Amino acid sequence: MAKIIVFNNDTDRIETYYRGEAESMPYNTNGTLRVREFRGSSNSPTLWTTKRAMQSWNAQRYIYGSQIPVGFAFKRPWEGGHGTQSQHYAGVAFDVGQKLSSSERNKLRESAISSGLWSYVEPANLTPTWVHFDKRFRKTCLWYCRLSSAKSGKS
Ligand SMILES: [Zn+2]
Repeated sequence: MAKIIVFNNDTDRIETYYRGEAESMPYNTNGTLRVREFRGSSNSPTLWTTKRAMQSWNAQRYIYGSQIPVGFAFKRPWEGGHGTQSQHYAGVAFDVGQKLSSSERNKLRESAISSGLWSYVEPANLTPTWVHFDKRFRKTCLWYCRLSSAKSGKS
């Protein structure tokens, strides 16, 4: 059972959910993003994300039109990652398509760019074997204070 902390961009409030690994993430539709997919290899008991990141995922999945295999989304700073890992720690970034062929991956990357849903899509030369997209959001003290206390391992 994972504790999932979601920043609700519409109400400016933090919501807490408890979900099993095989359940869908909060705000996910049609079972396209399970808790175990979102966490990937992270063993963190607490996961973080935002409502807007989940809604963007739903829309991206719809636009792409087929299943998007997720390597991971959430990762704590010490669990490895790549250049934009802080977005992974905030739970607003996705590393996907590791299992796709390179042409399928390019199609997915193009879909992410043209969708206009994401703040940033990593170029193919930096992420040749996966597709990274993320949904940055304005910083709120409420959110980042909670994140930094989690960083020290208290939650
Ligand atoms: Zn990434």
